[in-house]
Amino acid sequence: MKIKVARCAGFCFGVKRAINIAESALKELKGRDRIYSFGAIIHNPQVVEELFKKGLRVINNLEKIKGGTVIISSHGAPLETVEDIKRKGIKLIDATCPFVKYAQNIVKDLKKDGYEIIIVGDSAHPEVKALKSIAGKNKKSKKIGVISQTTQNKENYINEIKKILNRDFSEVKIFNTICNDTSKRQSATRRLLEDCDLMIVIGGKNSANTKRLWQICKESGVDSFHVETEPEVNKNWFNGKKRVGITSGASTPDSMVKKIIERIRRF
Ligand code: SF4
Repeated sequence: MKIKVARCAGFCFGVKRAINIAESALKELKGRDRIYSFGAIIHNPQVVEELFKKGLRVINNLEKIKGGTVIISSHGAPLETVEDIKRKGIKLIDATCPFVKYAQNIVKDLKKDGYEIIIVGDSAHPEVKALKSIAGKNKKSKKIGVISQTTQNKENYINEIKKILNRDFSEVKIFNTICNDTSKRQSATRRLLEDCDLMIVIGGKNSANTKRLWQICKESGVDSFHVETEPEVNKNWFNGKKRVGITSGASTPDSMVKKIIERIRRF
């Protein structure tokens, strides 16, 4: 049995950056200040657990905290949250990924210019919640601005754009806000699928970009499984398989990919 790993494994730029920001803050402030992240700093429970051991506490609202330092996660935070942090006099460190910031700035400009803003993405995801808060109350308009969540699957995005183009519009502005890392990871996964009879997708079950990779794998018809950690990998999946592909999300540590490959080799 051959094991092939997709190019583009390991943390993306935005995830590495957010972890570095959190670790520097923990080093600098530990023992002197309480440090929180607003939502999981990245969507990988094992990495969040490691940071918890170093002192980073995850909060989902500001009600219970008085003072301290709050780090905004790589996904960004709603405007109201940022305003509340400032109003409460809490120190703020912004670890929003620059690609997410870029999408936020587009939404700000579209709003200023009176466009109806359509965000293609998962409405419950923190990145989309933050974008929606910037867009504010949308009014129906013949001037339409369209952006996608940075981790969107390109095919999904194109399908949604086609539907929007059926509307009565005077102008449509479409932005490709799918980040480079997401595009490369999805392409590498598609290439690998052509040459595999089993795919293992590694990453947080709450990670949007990992879920997109999993969706691509399932839709390809190749037997595919999504796992977060090595004990989840089941020996029976490999019966009769000759070529196993491994792909991983942007917030999956290399160490987890290695552990899972070692487990498969032992089978
Ligand atoms: S997946 Fe893209 S947008 Fe999300 S954190 Fe990584 S680089 Fe930034």
